[in-house]
Amino acid sequence: MLLSSQLISYEGQEIMAIICTAKDISQEKRIEQLIEDNVRKLYYDFRHDKLTGLPNRKLFIEELESSLKKAHINNNFSFTVLILDLDQFKLINHSYGHLMGDNLLIQIAERLKQYLHAQDILARLGGDEFGIILNHLGNLEHTLEIVDLIKQSFARPFQLNDYEVYSSASIGITISDTKYQKVGDILRDADAALNQAKTKDKASYTIFRQEMYLEAVNRLQLDNDLRRAIERKEFELRYQPIVELNTKKITGFEALIRWEHPEKGWISPNNFIPVAEETGLIIPLSNWILNQGCQQLCKWQKLSNNYQDLIISINLSVKQFSQNNLVEKIMDTVQNLGMNHHCLKLEITESCLVKNTEEICLILNQLKALGMKLSMDDFGTGYSSLSYLHRFPFDTLKIDRSFIKDMTQSTDKLRLTQTIIHLANDFGMEVIAEGIETEKQWKKLQQLGCPYGQGYYFAKPLTAQEVEKVILEGNNRLIV
Ligand code: C2E
Ligand code: MG
Ligand code: MG
Repeated sequence: MLLSSQLISYEGQEIMAIICTAKDISQEKRIEQLIEDNVRKLYYDFRHDKLTGLPNRKLFIEELESSLKKAHINNNFSFTVLILDLDQFKLINHSYGHLMGDNLLIQIAERLKQYLHAQDILARLGGDEFGIILNHLGNLEHTLEIVDLIKQSFARPFQLNDYEVYSSASIGITISDTKYQKVGDILRDADAALNQAKTKDKASYTIFRQEMYLEAVNRLQLDNDLRRAIERKEFELRYQPIVELNTKKITGFEALIRWEHPEKGWISPNNFIPVAEETGLIIPLSNWILNQGCQQLCKWQKLSNNYQDLIISINLSVKQFSQNNLVEKIMDTVQNLGMNHHCLKLEITESCLVKNTEEICLILNQLKALGMKLSMDDFGTGYSSLSYLHRFPFDTLKIDRSFIKDMTQSTDKLRLTQTIIHLANDFGMEVIAEGIETEKQWKKLQQLGCPYGQGYYFAKPLTAQEVEKVILEGNNRLIV
């Protein structure tokens, strides 16, 4: 009730009456409360993750700001930031469906909570990424204890309906004692550490070091330089012969890109392809590679009748599969040159096939239907999933260099190589052994019944002029 009273006096002197009013304001109060509740809920929702109920990125950053402030005021206080990214979470979504994926995230959030103290913060930063601020005793020893607990917690399977599923996380860590001034810098460094952890085995953790910052700056510089490299014609293709092992007859060439940086000299594709993939530059670069490689093959085929069946192998990047006109692009290139479709072989690494499996399978089937050849590159380094062999329409399987390297010393590697060769035969696929460097390896592979190979033992990647010389000499066998 809202009570009010009013005095009634005569000419401002004698009080004659008091008027009291009472008003029922329950309705207004209810509305006021409702608005207040809603605002509070909105405010809460805005800063929490719906699925897990954990703080979201926004609240995480606010908490980080307050920890940073505290560390600046109090010299004895330090804190640690951990960023966790689940390994191959997409695979769970793909295999079990998104609802199960959500269920897994909820269970992981529950497990992670157990190891934290009341002052610590656990947040879901988005997707399959979690952030932790250890606000009590943020020293290295304690941090590593927590990391160990987290790793142990992932050793137990998660129950998703009737399935027991294993998961793991890579962790990037940064400790506040590096005199940070801005929250953005802390997150940048934890991310850099996470990126490093991701390049190692699954379930790895990395603590940020200053050099990582320099590496990140270097990558940025590389990206800058890459953008100009196409216009400045700093790229060149090299061609490594692929030979029939019994006769050393050249059956084709693999095109391998090289970049001559104006200041840094030759840079390996292993260093710049990942940067080009990150920035999207890989698309124009790959178009250039395809065009250049196919043009070169056509030139060589015109030079000699012995080389009409010569094949050019071009490496495809996983990023090219998200380009919606990839098939048309390849088709146009081949048709414009009047090139035989069977003479183009596209190499795809096994690790590409893990992500967007369905889409990639569709595109590969289209390319195959158009007559192009397909090769699975670096077999044995990824999942080596046997299901890939019958799921995807590959003609060729390339055994990764690491097997060939150790084959003559390790019986395990030898047996594995033998198994891969048999397996490929059973699936009606050709086999190419990569990285043959010695006569011993060459002979052993022949014994195992491997039909094709490439490697420094036969030839390093050659310039176009060197290949031309081999062809003009009319010698389609490599003399070693
Ligand atoms: P890859 O496709 O597996 O290529 C084979 C790599 O092994 C090449 O390295 C080649 O030079 C090297 N190699 C060949 N024989 C031997 C040997 O006997 N011993 C040793 N130690 N190495 C040997 P490269 O040219 O540095 O290329 C590395 C990777 O970069 C390639 O692996 C491929 O994944 C990628 N790459 C190269 N060129 C291209 C390209 O044009 N496009 C795309 N998307 N990726 C490319
Ligand atoms: Mg390759
Ligand atoms: Mg390879």
